[in-house]
Amino acid sequence: MSRPSPPGEAAPVDARTADASPVDTAPPDGRPTVVRTRRELREAVARLPRPIGFVPTMGALHEGHRALIRRARTENAGVVVSIFVNPRQFERADDLAAYPRTEAEDLAVCRAEGVDVVFIPPVEEIYPAGFQTTVRVGALAEPLEGAARPGHLEGVTTVVAILFGLVGAERSYFGEKDAQQLRVVRRMVADLAIPTEIVACPTVREPDGLACSSRNVRLSARGRAAAPLLHRALLAGRARILAGERSAEAVREAIRAVIGTEPAIELDYVSAADEATLDELETIDRPTLLSLAARIEGVRLIDNELVVPLRGTAQGEPEG
Ligand code: AMP
Repeated sequence: MSRPSPPGEAAPVDARTADASPVDTAPPDGRPTVVRTRRELREAVARLPRPIGFVPTMGALHEGHRALIRRARTENAGVVVSIFVNPRQFERADDLAAYPRTEAEDLAVCRAEGVDVVFIPPVEEIYPAGFQTTVRVGALAEPLEGAARPGHLEGVTTVVAILFGLVGAERSYFGEKDAQQLRVVRRMVADLAIPTEIVACPTVREPDGLACSSRNVRLSARGRAAAPLLHRALLAGRARILAGERSAEAVREAIRAVIGTEPAIELDYVSAADEATLDELETIDRPTLLSLAARIEGVRLIDNELVVPLRGTAQGEPEG
């Protein structure tokens, strides 16, 4: 883009954008329409029937993304998907550079799932020259990913706020796999009175339990074989809670013990937190988000399980 436009204004169409007109990429039935500028997006959205369901992604689409798209397709008359590898949510340049980019395959997925409009903006279209506004959620964004990846969640909320403003969808779809992100986005939407309903979708897993992730393709066969232990460790934590364990540290330790059996996994954090506030717990006496982050062969993976403790099972004490 030779001349970035101010936020909120349509940008001039550059040569690449002009070449990539919807006609170039559209299948015979005309879907999906591929748009790359704010102006093209606004025009395409204006032509859609309502309500509109919106699925923001970073591409390299997998079964988890497909589940979000299918849900959006079922519940809405129009479906918009965005594909944008957002540099502001990567705190490491090497991670950003290594993030998979598979536009042709992603468009085939969108076509197969009946998406109406795919927004694939260049970075300057989202962050034009002069950009200087960010959205930062408070305490909810501080622990877990907020602590481990400074700036990450602020990057997410900033880009999501921009995308919400551009698409104006009645509903927006997010995965529970990114549990803190989901909660932080919900908080932002409530606090800033953004008129979109946030719809949470369950984590989609491979048959061996590994949560689907765009990063999984970066694992070697050896790393891929080790990765399902992340979920097995969370299930071990869940089993301890359901067996009556009320010490959060004992649950965290049980999770760490499972992870510790696999030298290929480098643990970042293990958490047993209040599922609503994400405050770390001492006593498991409420719905608990068990979560972890780890590196395998330098690839950072996250996963979580929501556990609701059975009432009154710990040493038979009465509750509530
Ligand atoms: P990403 O492209 O990784 O930014 O993810 C885009 C959306 O897909 C986010 O709302 C994620 O939470 C969601 N997502 C990613 N992986 C999964 C999964 N395995 N199951 C369900 N949703 C997912």
